[in-house]
Amino acid sequence: MHKIILLWGSLLILFSSHAQQLFQKKFQKMGSSFEITVVDSQEDRALEMIALAIEEIDRIERLISSWQLTSETTQINQNAGLKAVVVSKELLELISRANIISDLVYGNFDISYASIDHLWNFNGKEVELPSEEILQKTVAKIGYKKIQIDTDQQTVFLPQKGMKIGFGAIGKGYAADRVKRLLISKGVKAGIVNASGDMSAWGKQPNGDPWQIGLVNPMNKNKVFSWFSLNENAVVTSGDYERYLTIAGKRYGHIINPKTGKPSQGVISCTVFAPKAELADALATAIFVMGIDLGIDLINKLPNIEALMIDDAGKIFTSKNIDLDETT
Ligand code: ADP
Ligand code: MG
Repeated sequence: MHKIILLWGSLLILFSSHAQQLFQKKFQKMGSSFEITVVDSQEDRALEMIALAIEEIDRIERLISSWQLTSETTQINQNAGLKAVVVSKELLELISRANIISDLVYGNFDISYASIDHLWNFNGKEVELPSEEILQKTVAKIGYKKIQIDTDQQTVFLPQKGMKIGFGAIGKGYAADRVKRLLISKGVKAGIVNASGDMSAWGKQPNGDPWQIGLVNPMNKNKVFSWFSLNENAVVTSGDYERYLTIAGKRYGHIINPKTGKPSQGVISCTVFAPKAELADALATAIFVMGIDLGIDLINKLPNIEALMIDDAGKIFTSKNIDLDETT
Protein backbone atom coordinates (compact mmCIF):
# COMPACT_ATOMS: atom_id res chain seq x y z
CA MET A 1 0.00 0.00 0.00
CA HIS A 2 1.39 3.40 -0.93
CA LYS A 3 -1.14 5.93 0.08
CA ILE A 4 -0.93 9.37 1.53
CA ILE A 5 -3.46 10.53 4.01
CA LEU A 6 -4.15 14.22 4.14
CA LEU A 7 -5.12 15.10 7.67
CA TRP A 8 -5.51 18.82 7.63
CA GLY A 9 -2.01 19.47 6.52
CA SER A 10 -0.25 16.48 7.99
CA LEU A 11 0.89 13.75 5.68
CA LEU A 12 1.34 10.16 6.59
CA ILE A 13 3.47 8.29 4.11
CA LEU A 14 3.95 4.57 3.95
CA PHE A 15 7.38 3.70 2.67
CA SER A 16 8.13 1.40 -0.22
CA SER A 17 11.12 -0.86 -0.66
CA HIS A 18 12.30 0.40 -4.08
CA ALA A 19 15.71 1.94 -4.73
CA GLN A 20 13.98 5.22 -5.22
CA GLN A 21 12.83 6.48 -1.85
CA LEU A 22 10.74 9.18 -0.32
CA PHE A 23 12.54 11.85 1.65
CA GLN A 24 10.55 14.28 3.70
CA LYS A 25 10.93 17.32 5.85
CA LYS A 26 8.39 19.20 7.93
CA PHE A 27 8.97 22.80 8.98
CA GLN A 28 7.20 26.05 9.82
CA LYS A 29 7.17 28.91 7.30
CA MET A 30 4.73 31.67 6.37
CA GLY A 31 2.99 31.09 9.69
CA SER A 32 2.01 27.53 8.68
CA SER A 33 3.44 24.06 8.61
CA PHE A 34 5.05 22.95 5.39
CA GLU A 35 6.14 19.51 4.29
CA ILE A 36 8.33 18.74 1.30
CA THR A 37 8.52 15.22 -0.09
CA VAL A 38 10.97 14.30 -2.83
CA VAL A 39 11.67 11.01 -4.56
CA ASP A 40 15.34 10.20 -5.00
CA SER A 41 17.80 7.33 -4.70
CA GLN A 42 20.37 9.39 -2.79
CA GLU A 43 19.72 10.90 0.58
CA ASP A 44 22.25 13.75 0.39
CA ARG A 45 20.89 14.94 -2.96
CA ALA A 46 17.34 14.76 -1.67
CA LEU A 47 18.23 16.78 1.43
CA GLU A 48 20.01 19.38 -0.70
CA MET A 49 16.84 19.76 -2.79
CA ILE A 50 14.70 20.15 0.31
CA ALA A 51 17.09 22.86 1.55
CA LEU A 52 16.67 24.70 -1.76
CA ALA A 53 12.91 24.44 -1.38
CA ILE A 54 13.09 26.00 2.08
CA GLU A 55 15.22 28.88 0.77
CA GLU A 56 12.68 29.50 -1.97
CA ILE A 57 9.80 29.65 0.53
CA ASP A 58 11.82 32.12 2.62
CA ARG A 59 12.41 34.26 -0.44
CA ILE A 60 8.69 34.32 -1.30
CA GLU A 61 7.77 35.10 2.30
CA ARG A 62 10.20 38.06 2.33
CA LEU A 63 8.55 39.33 -0.84
CA ILE A 64 4.84 38.92 -0.13
CA SER A 65 4.37 38.84 3.63
CA SER A 66 2.39 41.72 5.08
CA TRP A 67 3.97 40.97 8.48
CA GLN A 68 7.55 41.57 7.41
CA LEU A 69 8.32 45.27 7.56
CA THR A 70 10.70 45.21 4.62
CA SER A 71 8.51 43.24 2.19
CA GLU A 72 7.24 44.88 -0.98
CA THR A 73 3.69 44.19 0.21
CA THR A 74 4.32 46.18 3.39
CA GLN A 75 5.78 49.04 1.33
CA ILE A 76 2.62 49.11 -0.82
CA ASN A 77 0.39 49.06 2.26
CA GLN A 78 2.34 51.75 4.10
CA ASN A 79 2.05 54.05 1.11
CA ALA A 80 -1.71 53.59 0.66
CA GLY A 81 -3.27 56.96 -0.15
CA LEU A 82 0.21 58.46 -0.48
CA LYS A 83 2.13 57.21 -3.47
CA ALA A 84 2.76 54.44 -5.97
CA VAL A 85 5.50 51.98 -5.01
CA VAL A 86 7.97 50.39 -7.41
CA VAL A 87 7.85 46.61 -7.01
CA SER A 88 9.42 43.54 -8.58
CA LYS A 89 7.92 42.07 -11.72
CA GLU A 90 7.17 38.95 -9.68
CA LEU A 91 4.94 40.74 -7.17
CA LEU A 92 3.30 42.89 -9.82
CA GLU A 93 2.39 39.76 -11.78
CA LEU A 94 1.10 37.97 -8.68
CA ILE A 95 -1.18 40.94 -7.94
CA SER A 96 -2.37 41.03 -11.56
CA ARG A 97 -3.17 37.31 -11.56
CA ALA A 98 -4.96 37.63 -8.20
CA ASN A 99 -7.13 40.39 -9.67
CA ILE A 100 -7.97 38.27 -12.73
CA ILE A 101 -9.16 35.52 -10.37
CA SER A 102 -11.20 38.11 -8.43
CA ASP A 103 -13.01 38.95 -11.69
CA LEU A 104 -13.69 35.27 -12.28
CA VAL A 105 -15.23 34.80 -8.82
CA TYR A 106 -17.27 38.01 -8.69
CA GLY A 107 -14.96 39.60 -6.13
CA ASN A 108 -15.42 36.93 -3.47
CA PHE A 109 -11.68 36.40 -3.40
CA ASP A 110 -10.03 39.81 -3.09
CA ILE A 111 -6.49 40.56 -1.87
CA SER A 112 -7.69 43.99 -0.67
CA TYR A 113 -9.91 42.20 1.91
CA ALA A 114 -6.88 42.91 4.13
CA SER A 115 -8.08 46.49 4.62
CA ILE A 116 -10.37 44.97 7.25
CA ASP A 117 -8.18 42.31 8.80
CA HIS A 118 -7.25 44.45 11.81
CA LEU A 119 -10.89 44.19 12.95
CA TRP A 120 -10.67 40.41 13.25
CA ASN A 121 -8.12 38.74 15.44
CA PHE A 122 -8.38 35.01 14.95
CA ASN A 123 -6.64 33.76 18.03
CA GLY A 124 -9.58 31.76 19.39
CA LYS A 125 -10.34 34.29 22.17
CA GLU A 126 -13.85 35.50 22.84
CA VAL A 127 -14.31 39.11 21.73
CA GLU A 128 -17.11 41.44 20.63
CA LEU A 129 -18.27 41.86 17.05
CA PRO A 130 -17.06 45.09 15.46
CA SER A 131 -19.95 47.58 15.16
CA GLU A 132 -21.83 47.87 11.85
CA GLU A 133 -20.64 51.43 11.56
CA ILE A 134 -16.97 50.53 11.80
CA LEU A 135 -17.49 47.53 9.52
CA GLN A 136 -19.12 49.64 6.83
CA LYS A 137 -16.50 52.34 7.00
CA THR A 138 -13.78 49.73 6.63
CA VAL A 139 -15.51 47.68 3.91
CA ALA A 140 -15.53 50.85 1.80
CA LYS A 141 -11.76 50.47 1.51
CA ILE A 142 -12.00 46.95 0.07
CA GLY A 143 -12.13 46.54 -3.70
CA TYR A 144 -9.51 44.96 -5.93
CA LYS A 145 -10.59 47.14 -8.85
CA LYS A 146 -9.23 50.14 -6.99
CA ILE A 147 -5.69 48.75 -6.96
CA GLN A 148 -3.72 50.76 -9.53
CA ILE A 149 -1.14 48.72 -11.38
CA ASP A 150 1.21 50.44 -13.80
CA THR A 151 3.07 47.79 -15.76
CA ASP A 152 5.32 50.30 -17.58
CA GLN A 153 6.50 52.02 -14.42
CA GLN A 154 6.22 48.69 -12.55
CA THR A 155 4.35 50.31 -9.69
CA VAL A 156 1.38 49.52 -7.48
CA PHE A 157 -0.76 52.16 -5.78
CA LEU A 158 -3.55 51.77 -3.24
CA PRO A 159 -5.49 55.01 -3.65
CA GLN A 160 -7.18 55.19 -0.23
CA LYS A 161 -5.52 55.65 3.13
CA GLY A 162 -5.98 52.52 5.23
CA MET A 163 -6.34 50.31 2.16
CA LYS A 164 -4.28 47.14 2.41
CA ILE A 165 -3.53 44.00 0.45
CA GLY A 166 -2.67 40.55 1.79
CA PHE A 167 -1.86 37.21 0.19
CA GLY A 168 -3.19 34.93 2.94
CA ALA A 169 -5.53 33.15 0.55
CA ILE A 170 -3.16 32.67 -2.37
CA GLY A 171 0.42 32.93 -1.05
CA LYS A 172 0.81 29.34 0.11
CA GLY A 173 -0.53 28.07 -3.21
CA TYR A 174 1.87 30.36 -5.04
CA ALA A 175 4.76 29.13 -2.90
CA ALA A 176 3.81 25.49 -3.56
CA ASP A 177 3.82 26.10 -7.33
CA ARG A 178 7.13 27.94 -7.26
CA VAL A 179 8.83 25.24 -5.20
CA LYS A 180 7.52 22.56 -7.54
CA ARG A 181 8.83 24.52 -10.53
CA LEU A 182 12.22 25.03 -8.89
CA LEU A 183 12.66 21.36 -7.95
CA ILE A 184 11.63 20.18 -11.42
CA SER A 185 14.20 22.56 -12.91
CA LYS A 186 16.84 20.95 -10.65
CA GLY A 187 15.96 17.52 -11.97
CA VAL A 188 13.80 16.19 -9.14
CA LYS A 189 11.61 13.62 -10.87
CA ALA A 190 8.78 13.44 -8.36
CA GLY A 191 7.58 15.05 -5.20
CA ILE A 192 4.90 16.84 -3.27
CA VAL A 193 4.93 20.27 -1.72
CA ASN A 194 2.41 20.46 1.09
CA ALA A 195 1.84 23.98 2.37
CA SER A 196 -0.50 23.19 5.25
CA GLY A 197 -2.97 21.40 3.07
CA ASP A 198 -2.16 23.19 -0.18
CA MET A 199 -0.50 20.45 -2.17
CA SER A 200 1.30 20.52 -5.47
CA ALA A 201 2.54 17.22 -6.85
CA TRP A 202 4.51 15.94 -9.80
CA GLY A 203 5.83 12.61 -11.00
CA LYS A 204 4.97 9.28 -9.39
CA GLN A 205 5.58 7.41 -6.19
CA PRO A 206 8.74 5.24 -6.06
CA ASN A 207 6.73 2.14 -7.02
CA GLY A 208 5.31 3.89 -10.11
CA ASP A 209 1.84 4.48 -8.70
CA PRO A 210 0.31 7.96 -8.88
CA TRP A 211 0.30 10.00 -5.68
CA GLN A 212 -2.87 9.40 -3.74
CA ILE A 213 -4.49 11.68 -1.25
CA GLY A 214 -7.29 10.82 1.08
CA LEU A 215 -9.77 13.46 2.14
CA VAL A 216 -11.19 13.56 5.64
CA ASN A 217 -14.31 15.33 6.81
CA PRO A 218 -13.49 17.83 9.57
CA MET A 219 -16.58 16.49 11.36
CA ASN A 220 -14.99 13.04 11.48
CA LYS A 221 -11.26 13.36 11.11
CA ASN A 222 -10.52 9.67 11.72
CA LYS A 223 -12.09 8.45 8.54
CA VAL A 224 -10.89 9.05 5.00
CA PHE A 225 -14.02 9.32 2.91
CA SER A 226 -12.44 9.29 -0.50
CA TRP A 227 -9.13 8.71 -2.27
CA PHE A 228 -7.96 10.71 -5.26
CA SER A 229 -4.99 10.33 -7.60
CA LEU A 230 -3.10 13.59 -7.76
CA ASN A 231 -1.04 13.11 -10.97
CA GLU A 232 0.47 16.46 -11.97
CA ASN A 233 -2.22 18.41 -10.21
CA ALA A 234 -2.60 20.55 -7.16
CA VAL A 235 -5.19 20.18 -4.43
CA VAL A 236 -5.98 22.83 -1.86
CA THR A 237 -8.26 22.85 1.13
CA SER A 238 -9.60 25.99 2.78
CA GLY A 239 -11.22 25.48 6.11
CA ASP A 240 -12.20 27.51 9.10
CA TYR A 241 -11.28 24.82 11.59
CA GLU A 242 -7.85 26.10 12.51
CA ARG A 243 -8.20 29.87 12.66
CA TYR A 244 -11.41 31.24 14.13
CA LEU A 245 -12.78 33.29 16.96
CA THR A 246 -15.81 32.87 19.14
CA ILE A 247 -18.29 35.66 19.79
CA ALA A 248 -21.27 35.00 22.04
CA GLY A 249 -20.75 31.26 21.59
CA LYS A 250 -20.75 31.47 17.79
CA ARG A 251 -17.77 30.49 15.65
CA TYR A 252 -16.34 32.96 13.17
CA GLY A 253 -13.80 31.60 10.70
CA HIS A 254 -10.92 33.46 9.10
CA ILE A 255 -12.37 33.68 5.60
CA ILE A 256 -13.99 37.07 5.14
CA ASN A 257 -16.77 38.04 2.77
CA PRO A 258 -15.19 41.12 1.12
CA LYS A 259 -18.63 42.69 0.58
CA THR A 260 -19.75 42.57 4.22
CA GLY A 261 -16.39 42.49 5.99
CA LYS A 262 -17.69 39.60 8.09
CA PRO A 263 -16.47 36.02 8.34
CA SER A 264 -18.29 33.82 5.87
CA GLN A 265 -20.72 31.30 7.36
CA GLY A 266 -22.38 28.11 6.15
CA VAL A 267 -19.42 26.25 4.68
CA ILE A 268 -16.73 24.62 6.78
CA SER A 269 -14.39 23.26 4.17
CA CYS A 270 -13.66 23.58 0.44
CA THR A 271 -11.23 21.42 -1.50
CA VAL A 272 -10.27 22.44 -5.03
CA PHE A 273 -8.34 20.40 -7.60
CA ALA A 274 -6.65 22.46 -10.32
CA PRO A 275 -3.52 22.36 -12.48
CA LYS A 276 -1.93 25.09 -10.31
CA ALA A 277 -2.00 25.43 -6.51
CA GLU A 278 -2.18 29.23 -6.77
CA LEU A 279 -5.47 29.09 -8.67
CA ALA A 280 -6.80 26.27 -6.48
CA ASP A 281 -5.95 28.27 -3.35
CA ALA A 282 -7.74 31.43 -4.48
CA LEU A 283 -10.72 29.46 -5.79
CA ALA A 284 -11.08 27.50 -2.54
CA THR A 285 -11.33 30.76 -0.63
CA ALA A 286 -13.74 32.26 -3.17
CA ILE A 287 -16.20 29.35 -3.19
CA PHE A 288 -16.04 29.23 0.59
CA VAL A 289 -17.53 32.73 0.55
CA MET A 290 -19.92 32.03 -2.36
CA GLY A 291 -21.52 29.09 -0.60
CA ILE A 292 -22.42 25.61 -1.85
CA ASP A 293 -24.77 26.34 -4.76
CA LEU A 294 -22.97 29.25 -6.39
CA GLY A 295 -19.58 27.74 -5.58
CA ILE A 296 -20.25 24.35 -7.18
CA ASP A 297 -21.96 26.06 -10.13
CA LEU A 298 -18.91 28.20 -10.78
CA ILE A 299 -16.51 25.24 -10.56
CA ASN A 300 -18.67 23.26 -13.01
CA LYS A 301 -18.14 26.01 -15.57
CA LEU A 302 -14.34 25.95 -15.31
CA PRO A 303 -12.30 23.43 -17.34
CA ASN A 304 -9.90 21.07 -15.49
CA ILE A 305 -11.10 22.20 -12.09
CA GLU A 306 -13.08 20.21 -9.57
CA ALA A 307 -14.22 20.93 -6.05
CA LEU A 308 -15.63 19.31 -3.00
CA MET A 309 -17.40 21.37 -0.36
CA ILE A 310 -18.66 20.52 3.12
CA ASP A 311 -21.39 22.56 4.76
CA ASP A 312 -21.75 23.27 8.46
CA ALA A 313 -23.98 20.24 8.88
CA GLY A 314 -21.18 18.02 7.60
CA LYS A 315 -22.86 17.33 4.26
CA ILE A 316 -20.54 16.84 1.27
CA PHE A 317 -21.17 18.40 -2.16
CA THR A 318 -19.07 17.82 -5.27
CA SER A 319 -18.60 19.26 -8.75
CA LYS A 320 -19.77 17.13 -11.64
CA ASN A 321 -16.65 15.07 -12.39
CA ILE A 322 -15.91 13.91 -8.86
CA ASP A 323 -16.82 10.36 -7.91
CA LEU A 324 -16.61 9.74 -4.22
CA ASP A 325 -15.37 6.27 -3.42
CA GLU A 326 -17.38 5.67 -0.30
CA THR A 327 -15.79 2.28 0.26
CA THR A 328 -12.70 3.48 2.13
P1 ADP B 1 -6.41 28.39 4.67
O1 ADP B 1 -5.45 29.31 5.35
O2 ADP B 1 -7.31 27.61 5.56
O3 ADP B 1 -5.76 27.58 3.59
P2 ADP B 1 -7.41 30.29 2.77
O4 ADP B 1 -6.52 29.88 1.67
O5 ADP B 1 -8.83 30.47 2.43
O6 ADP B 1 -7.43 29.30 3.98
O7 ADP B 1 -6.82 31.63 3.35
C1 ADP B 1 -7.47 32.33 4.35
C2 ADP B 1 -6.71 33.60 4.60
O8 ADP B 1 -6.86 34.45 3.46
C3 ADP B 1 -7.22 34.40 5.77
O9 ADP B 1 -6.53 34.07 6.94
C4 ADP B 1 -6.96 35.81 5.32
O10 ADP B 1 -5.60 36.13 5.53
C5 ADP B 1 -7.17 35.77 3.83
N1 ADP B 1 -8.56 36.03 3.38
C6 ADP B 1 -9.70 35.89 4.10
N2 ADP B 1 -10.78 36.16 3.36
C7 ADP B 1 -10.32 36.46 2.12
C8 ADP B 1 -10.97 36.81 0.89
N3 ADP B 1 -12.30 36.86 0.79
N4 ADP B 1 -10.19 37.07 -0.18
C9 ADP B 1 -8.85 37.01 -0.10
N5 ADP B 1 -8.19 36.68 1.03
C10 ADP B 1 -8.90 36.38 2.13
MG1 MG C 1 -7.09 30.01 -0.35
